[in-house]
Amino acid sequence: MRTDIEIAQAATLQPIVPLAVRRLGVPEGSLSPYGRYKAKLSLEQIEKLQGRPDGHLVLVTAITPTPPGEGKTTTTVGLGDALNHIGQNAIICLREPSLGPCFGMKGGAAGGGLAQIVPMEDINLHFTGDFHAIALANNLLAALIDNHVHHGNALGLDVRRIVWRRVVDMNDRALREITVALGGPGNGYPREDGFDIVVASEVMAILCLATSLADLKERLGRIVVGYTSSKLPITARQLKADGAMAALLKDALAPNLVQTLEGNPAFVHGGPFANIAHGCNSLIATQTALKLADYVVTEAGFGADLGAEKFIDIKCRQSGLRPGCAVIVATVRALRHHGGALQGLEALQEGLANLRRHVANVRLHYGLPAIVSINRFDGDTPEEIAMIERECAALEVPCVLASHWAEGGAGAAELAREVVKACASGAARMQLLYEDELPLDEKIAAVARKIYHAESVDWEPKARAQLGELQALGFGGLPVCIAKTQYSFSSDAKLLAAPIGHALRVRELRLNAGAGFVTAICGDIMTMPGLPKVPAAERIDVDAHGRISGLF
Ligand code: ADP
Ligand code: MG
Repeated sequence: MRTDIEIAQAATLQPIVPLAVRRLGVPEGSLSPYGRYKAKLSLEQIEKLQGRPDGHLVLVTAITPTPPGEGKTTTTVGLGDALNHIGQNAIICLREPSLGPCFGMKGGAAGGGLAQIVPMEDINLHFTGDFHAIALANNLLAALIDNHVHHGNALGLDVRRIVWRRVVDMNDRALREITVALGGPGNGYPREDGFDIVVASEVMAILCLATSLADLKERLGRIVVGYTSSKLPITARQLKADGAMAALLKDALAPNLVQTLEGNPAFVHGGPFANIAHGCNSLIATQTALKLADYVVTEAGFGADLGAEKFIDIKCRQSGLRPGCAVIVATVRALRHHGGALQGLEALQEGLANLRRHVANVRLHYGLPAIVSINRFDGDTPEEIAMIERECAALEVPCVLASHWAEGGAGAAELAREVVKACASGAARMQLLYEDELPLDEKIAAVARKIYHAESVDWEPKARAQLGELQALGFGGLPVCIAKTQYSFSSDAKLLAAPIGHALRVRELRLNAGAGFVTAICGDIMTMPGLPKVPAAERIDVDAHGRISGLF
């Protein structure tokens, strides 16, 4: 059995510029190649597409996953290939992978088997440098904050109330809580600080929600970096940071184009995590793809309680995007896991409760036609598949067995036909989960109650105080971005399947005024992950000829 990287390395890639000219109909001059197989599409060209009609938007989401992931990215790629395979014109939109999981536990994020985007080593490692630009823009602001305080602090920032954190795209738990500016007066005013991973940065969220360079700069200016001693917010604009940050991000804002193993176009742009951030690729990539194709297949991270909820309540709310249907990826392996310690079919039967709840949420609360796609693994038995199919029949939700991992796009042709049918039906009635006018605590309660089936929301004192402050400052109208474990509907990773009666524990609120949401940090979730005992990095290598191995 070949590994993902072996399959990717054996592929013959087409030069990306002619592929884009042929498939997207954009002029050669609108593409900036990064090497031969990656290119950015210019923002000027994107402007020119504005008058065109939109294609159908297809959201790929999933049941509650196990640590290696259940195959959303793989299904997004496989479905995109399958739509093209059955004669439709489809573009894929995915996030750029973070180096954290790449060197940590989960590995790369470019799909798997015969459903991958390439060049996978580039996509998984430095790609076109967007994450570096985002980290630098974030850390430039951090440097300007400490510098401002050092040189007299004209804005009166309270060093105990600086909320802007530094970032690095690595799982590095040692940096979670640190002290900066030690060593005497020449080094500034000592204070507590900390690092988040780049994919949790507000700059990442801003890049992913901005509609233009002007909008990006405007949003960067709105970032609240901290407060005065009388608790008045200080913004990046007041520090005159927005211009330089936008300058650093100018190229990063243009979406990146690559190809699948089958030579179909894919935008890979922006990469917020779905557990600690909003979990969707850039709005610019999605909107551009909709102008260029009849079908756009996009992934929202982790289970449908996280990425899909944020896709709708943040990305669609802000932009007016309206998906035509949602594909819910399920695996026998994860459903058995949700069935607990039980073995075989009994466990699977128990675990189906997780699928049932996600299907109900997608249809009832998000208002989208759902299609269950069973991501077929080699060991799955006909009895197990039949059990999932019976459950879906009882729920009256279309269910297909998809084999794109083993067979490429042809293996997901039936899924593609179901997606076409669902989009053509016009049945989608996308709903936001809550109104803008609700206060932040009621918004959090709405998500907790409707989507997580929580009984209550427990507010830790710090979060309760922040709630009052943010409401008083006028930020209550923003949507919420709930940061919680991806392994459970609840904020407790151990509660599998479809827990009821639990409490969502809110530890902290973080204002993202530029991105346009308030993050609620719940349960034990960390915005700087750690590496596992045996990190994936230990297996990754490069030989004397530059050939990389071990990248999954
Ligand atoms: P997600 O996007 O849901 O997190 P991915 O699509 O990234 O999941 O898949 C996670 C991992 O599982 C990848 O390494 C991929 O190669 C592997 N994988 C996905 N589908 C299959 C399958 N049907 N059989 C075997 N491995 C698979
Ligand atoms: Mg994924």
